[in-house]
Amino acid sequence: MTKKQKKKRNRILVALGIFILLEIFEFAGVFDSFPEPFGLWVEFGAFLIPYLIAGHDVLQKAWHGITHKQPFDENLLMAIATIGAFLLVFFPESEPHMAEGAAVMLFYQVGELFESYAVGKTRKSITAMMDIAPDYANVMRDGELVQVDPNEVAVGSQIVCKAGERVPLDGVVVSGKSQLDTSALTGESVPRVVEEGVQVISGCVNMTGMITVETTSEFSQSTVSRILDLVENASEKKARTENFISRFARYYTPIVVGLALLIAIVSPLLFGQSVPKSIESALVFLVVSCPCALVISVPLSFFSGIGAASRVGVMVKGSSYLEAVSEVDTVAFDKTGTLTNGTFGVVDVHTAEGVDRDLLLSYAAHAEAYSDHPIALSVIESYSGTINRDQIDNVEELSGKGVSANVNSHKVLIGNDKLMKTEGIDAPDCELVGTILHVSLDGEYLGHIIIADMMKDDAKEAITNLHKAGVKKTVMLTGDREEVAAAVAKELGVDEYRAQLLPQDKVTKVEELLAQQSEKGKLAFVGDGINDAPVLVRADVGIAMGAMGSDAAIEAADIVLMDDKPSRIATAINIARKTMRIVRQNIVFAIGVKVVIMILALPVVGLANMWLAVFGDVGVTVIAILNAMRCLRVNE
Ligand code: ADP
Ligand code: MG
Repeated sequence: MTKKQKKKRNRILVALGIFILLEIFEFAGVFDSFPEPFGLWVEFGAFLIPYLIAGHDVLQKAWHGITHKQPFDENLLMAIATIGAFLLVFFPESEPHMAEGAAVMLFYQVGELFESYAVGKTRKSITAMMDIAPDYANVMRDGELVQVDPNEVAVGSQIVCKAGERVPLDGVVVSGKSQLDTSALTGESVPRVVEEGVQVISGCVNMTGMITVETTSEFSQSTVSRILDLVENASEKKARTENFISRFARYYTPIVVGLALLIAIVSPLLFGQSVPKSIESALVFLVVSCPCALVISVPLSFFSGIGAASRVGVMVKGSSYLEAVSEVDTVAFDKTGTLTNGTFGVVDVHTAEGVDRDLLLSYAAHAEAYSDHPIALSVIESYSGTINRDQIDNVEELSGKGVSANVNSHKVLIGNDKLMKTEGIDAPDCELVGTILHVSLDGEYLGHIIIADMMKDDAKEAITNLHKAGVKKTVMLTGDREEVAAAVAKELGVDEYRAQLLPQDKVTKVEELLAQQSEKGKLAFVGDGINDAPVLVRADVGIAMGAMGSDAAIEAADIVLMDDKPSRIATAINIARKTMRIVRQNIVFAIGVKVVIMILALPVVGLANMWLAVFGDVGVTVIAILNAMRCLRVNE
């Protein structure tokens, strides 16, 4: 509990103590022992004490609302209802309602306290998960290890991570061996073993050994900063339901106040009810009509749902996307880097007549030296010689086709048969299954490298789980060869695939799929590369790979999978559906109970009193909040 909450709690307890004492006095007939008109006024003044102790801030807020021309909120409702209850004292023929007035305020405040506690708790458990911001980085300065602000560490610096410390920046291990706890980022509980040459991402906790890391990005571009940015901006993108509720509250309160007035005026005139009885009905109506249960529990549910998702490594950039992903019935995937690891191994090299194998590999590696494509990285990785970067210029990435570059003033092309065709170079077919990289030098065909990718461990599970979650169609869209696409699609159980697509073809294909969508169903696209960004934007829900994915894809996406596991998509859908289910439950429950009590409160029915109204407001709010907090729990 925060200090402010404690203060409020103490205030409520004091007021409650006085209130109970007064009720005992009343029961014992203390107030009746005063001479006739005075007893009532002593009682009036006495109950005013706990009322003001508990509720003076509510009255202040209501007044503030009136003077600032935004009066219609729950504070006003409470103020009118409770002041009204006290004012019934002016109708001598009716029972006085001071005790109820004080009680309504007291319980309303109990509900408020509970609510702020629940919201605080939810927020805290999310920030605890998000408590990944490192305070410092250890760098060597003049032979001594000093702690500096991670913001001040330049790319390519060496930093030291000791056991128990958080990795402050993204980088590659240059020495040492250790185990990393990545659970805060990915929800993965098994520690990751890292050693020389392995990439580490910031935000993980180094558990066992000391490692030296060469940083590969600045702090502002590191994984931690990117995640924290996402979390901070998440609440800006509000879901349709959320916007609906806040608009609803804006129009609803004035309507309710108007209706209450109508009840108070019309029922004595038309139905011959007594004036105090009608006013009482109107007050009960006001108390129960308070929309807090919805105004609080709906955003809380979304917030908790986003928190639950981030716990398993799924960053949802706003509640609108949580709502959208709950309606997904078609999922389209990019292949390389999304369903496959994107780390290719060289299967074979076929050279043209008289071409030396090493020469071909050398030209290939040089041409790829400046590309970030998974293919390029794998070609460079498998090249054993050194790459002389001075010899390379005029590098051009031909998206979906390959690369063109000048190496030693010779024009080298490397890519698929589309590239060879557009350049008018004859390239033979290859019977091997794999991705084929044709290489040419100054228009002469040198041969091709056959490389093959590995499926991600959970790729098959990802597709199976999606189907289990009720997704109707899974589609794979790839720029790779027909043969490779067919083999992958078959092995994973993907419903449809399209091969040899250029990036713009992927957009067209996704637009076709969108056109086939039913009214309700949404389409998600999952990708990793720079050239996937336009497709990610176009789809109803764009999902990007967070660890290996390009910045452009992460930026364009609505949802980011921190550990690049496609199986998390089904988990995200399940979390989103659960959240939406709870939101709907709360809406139906809160409105239902309130409508029933409102009807009972009508003067003609006359079955509801203030006490029931208090339950209808505070009780329903508390139950709705408890229900909303269930969204925090993940059952995978
Ligand atoms: P995917 O859709 O499977 O993610 P891309 O659209 O990134 O694949 O690339 C499609 C095809 O273009 C690749 O299969 C490859 O044949 C060729 N290609 C793309 N980039 C390169 C590169 N840097 N070097 C060689 N070939 C490339
Ligand atoms: Mg890709």
